[in-house]
Amino acid sequence: MTNEPTGFPYAPAPESTAIVDISSSYGIFVDGAFVEPVDAPRFKTVNPATEEVLSEVCQAGAPEVAAAVAAARRAHDEVWSSMSGAERGKYIYRLARLLQERARELAVLESMDNGKPIRESRDVDLPLAAAHFFYHAGWADKLEHAGMGRDPRGLGVAAQIIPWNFPLLMLAWKVAPALATGNTVVLKPAETTPLTALAFAELCQQADLPPGVVNIVTGDGRTGQLLAESEGIDKVAFTGSTEVGKQIQRSLAGTRRRLTLELGGKAANIIFDDAPLDEAVEGIVNGIYFNQGHVCCAGSRLLVQESIVEDLLVRLRRRLQTLRVGDPLDKNTDVGAINSAAQLERIVALAESGDAEGAERWSAPCTLPERGFWFPPTIFTSVTTAHRIAREEIFGPVLSVLTFRTPDEAVEKANNTPYGLSAGIWTEKGSRILWMASRLRAGVVWANTFNQFDPTSPFGGYGESGFGREGGRAGLAAYLQERVN
Ligand code: NDP
Repeated sequence: MTNEPTGFPYAPAPESTAIVDISSSYGIFVDGAFVEPVDAPRFKTVNPATEEVLSEVCQAGAPEVAAAVAAARRAHDEVWSSMSGAERGKYIYRLARLLQERARELAVLESMDNGKPIRESRDVDLPLAAAHFFYHAGWADKLEHAGMGRDPRGLGVAAQIIPWNFPLLMLAWKVAPALATGNTVVLKPAETTPLTALAFAELCQQADLPPGVVNIVTGDGRTGQLLAESEGIDKVAFTGSTEVGKQIQRSLAGTRRRLTLELGGKAANIIFDDAPLDEAVEGIVNGIYFNQGHVCCAGSRLLVQESIVEDLLVRLRRRLQTLRVGDPLDKNTDVGAINSAAQLERIVALAESGDAEGAERWSAPCTLPERGFWFPPTIFTSVTTAHRIAREEIFGPVLSVLTFRTPDEAVEKANNTPYGLSAGIWTEKGSRILWMASRLRAGVVWANTFNQFDPTSPFGGYGESGFGREGGRAGLAAYLQERVN
């Protein structure tokens, strides 16, 4: 362990990497096979905790994207759209079971490529990814009960562009509902985290999924843009920054292609004076330091009732001193590495704006590793609603603390953001939870908990957090066309 926080010391408990077999280079996955594009440039993907090169992947260009879209179209028209729901369901169940069977290997691979603690990839990302496939496999032969008419059909070919914060889980959120509803997909993982998507391509082979139903093209934002603007697709499902989401929306304007956007957030986690404070502290930690704060629905703005702010901050700082920051593959680690140098730069710059604008910074005392990309769990107090750190998504382990006196003021401050993805309420009173929840402009509101996810529960936002829902019955609508006859 790199830091030895207060409390008793832990011996290192590193997860072995022997279970993972990473190729030195990967092609793209098209029509059921890995193909090596001849002219496409290659780029490296690194372990953010060590800066060690893990593999080289290909920067798919126009010919590769066109080949992937054509394969998806063929598979849709000739096989997948006419297959019965029960048959499609069998393949999706198979993928779910394979995710479970290979969970340990995939969790280690995810932590190596992304930097997230193995505890989280093992206990959150992988079980939830499998749960999404199981849940949607169950829907595949029951779509007439989805509330989309008697015989709803898929849209066709879905272009799916995902970010680096939950690489395999975001793949599951996108691919599982698309396949269940009879669509075929071309998926582009993020530039910095392509490896679990490529491992998923192997799972598709193992499951005997018909060729072309799932295609995976690697590359940076240029590949994403080529895919989103491709003529041959029927839908774009995007998760990422608001800026790129707006760009995609502009490029789809005037076309018949459908779009769902899951963008950023600046969620308020609201603590009332009657809240159980120790539990709230756990919820705050889970809200903003889970996954290094690389979470679109992170509780990055803490709104605390004025009368308890000092007490709460003492408890929160004490708790932060026990967080173990370091090797993502150590099973004791709570906070891992920042995903990339570029993201670290963004976090550092926003934290510096907090200093410059007069907020007070406190960071948990910990020794950060010399190599890799790291940022300590940090709290800013004396924050006002005008500060950049209260308005902009930091996407890192940085909490901005504001106060309020009355429930009305809490609502006003919580809604004072262009985003609207999530919110948290901590209070003993059920009536206050309902009163608050009906006034908060957020797609998900958690009460006395935070960052809970379930495939049956729709997730999505308002305003600059995007539109469309993922998960639950509502999530199916994003991939279905209504047919009443
Ligand atoms: P991006 O929006 O750039 O990345 C999301 C995905 O879109 C990636 O696969 C990316 O490829 C791809 N992409 C990038 N440009 C385009 C384009 N023009 N057309 C189509 N696809 C494109 O997010 P960043 O990684 O740059 O992160 C920037 C900030 O965005 C973060 O600091 C955070 O605030 C926010 N963010 C929010 C997320 C969320 O879940 N809401 C997730 C990720 C980021 P590539 O990675 O190869 O560039």
